[in-house]
Amino acid sequence: MPVPDSLIRTLLSEYEQRRTVAQQQAQDRKTALYRRIPRLQAIEEELEAIGLRAVRRYLQSGSMSKEQIMTSLKQDNERLLAEKRRLLSEAGVSEEDLAVHYQCPICQDTGYVGGQKCRCLQQRLIDYAYDQSNLKKIIRTENFSTFDLQRFSTAIPYGESHSPRDNAAQVRELTQAYARHFPENSPRNLFFYGVSGTGKTFFCNCIAKAVLDAGYTALYLTAYDFCSAMEAYRFRDKSAAAPSPSIHDLIRDIDLLIIDDLGTEFNTALSVSDLFYGVNQRLLQQKSTIISTNLSLEQIEKVYTERMASRIAGNYRLIKLFGPDLRLSPRLAP
Ligand SMILES: [Zn+2]
Repeated sequence: MPVPDSLIRTLLSEYEQRRTVAQQQAQDRKTALYRRIPRLQAIEEELEAIGLRAVRRYLQSGSMSKEQIMTSLKQDNERLLAEKRRLLSEAGVSEEDLAVHYQCPICQDTGYVGGQKCRCLQQRLIDYAYDQSNLKKIIRTENFSTFDLQRFSTAIPYGESHSPRDNAAQVRELTQAYARHFPENSPRNLFFYGVSGTGKTFFCNCIAKAVLDAGYTALYLTAYDFCSAMEAYRFRDKSAAAPSPSIHDLIRDIDLLIIDDLGTEFNTALSVSDLFYGVNQRLLQQKSTIISTNLSLEQIEKVYTERMASRIAGNYRLIKLFGPDLRLSPRLAP
C-alpha cells in the first residue's frame, strides 16, 4: 500500500482547485455585495490604504508626534469598521458570509499545517491505502441522524432488567457523548458486545462519522481485515519501498481505530498475537480504539488469552447490546 508521489500530486492539485473555487466564490459574493452597496467597497479601499496614509502623514507632518498620528489613524480605522459593520447588518450580511469558505478550515485546503500533513490529507491517504469506500458509503446511511429508536423492541428479554429500546437509548446517549468529547474520553476505548444484529456496527459507524466530521482520522477494519493487513505487512516484498501508511503506522498514529466483528477472523496463533499487539499498542500510544464482537469477555479470555481480556476489562467501557435481530425486523411496531 505505498502512496505513490503521483497520488500526492493529484491530491494536492485537487486541493488547489478547491482553494481557487472557494476564493472565487468569496470574491463573487463580495462583488455582488459591492454592487448593492458601493460605499462598502470604498470603505474597504480606505481600510487597505490606512497603513500607507500613516507613513505619508508621518513624513509630511512636522508638528505631530508619531503617537498622535497613530491615535488619529486608529480612530479612522475604528470609524470605518463601525460604518462597515452597520452597513453589513442593515443589509443582513455577516462577516462570515464574506469570508472564504474552505472545505477544511484547519489547513484552508492546502493539505498542510505548519509543514505537517493536515488530518484531512492524512485521511485521504488512509482511505487510499485501505480503500475505505465501504465505510464512506455506509456512514451516509448509518449515523446519529438516521438512528431510529423505534426499531428496537420494547419487550424485556428474559434475564435482562430493561428493554432493548431503553438500552439502545442509553447507548445512544453514551456514544454521542463519546463522539462529542473525542479524543478526551475516559475510558478512551469502547467494547460493544452482544449477539448479531443488535446494532453494534451501527453504533461504530455513528461514532466513526462524528469523529471524521470533527476532523480526526479514523479507520474501520473488521478483525479479519486487520489480521490480513498485519499478515500482508509481514510478508510484504521487503526489497520494494516501505508501504505508507503501513498498518503499524496506523496503529501508532490514527486517532480512532475500529475493529469490528472480533471473533469472526480466522483464528490462528498469529492472528491472536496480532490482535493483542494492536490492542496493546493502542493503549501504550494512548489512542482510542473501539471493538465490537459477538463474544463475551469470558469467551475473549478463552479465545484470545487472559492478557487480552484483562487489557479490555481494565481499559475499555463495556457496552452490551441485546434484543431481536434488527436485520430481521427492520421496523418494529412502537
Ligand atoms: Zn485540512
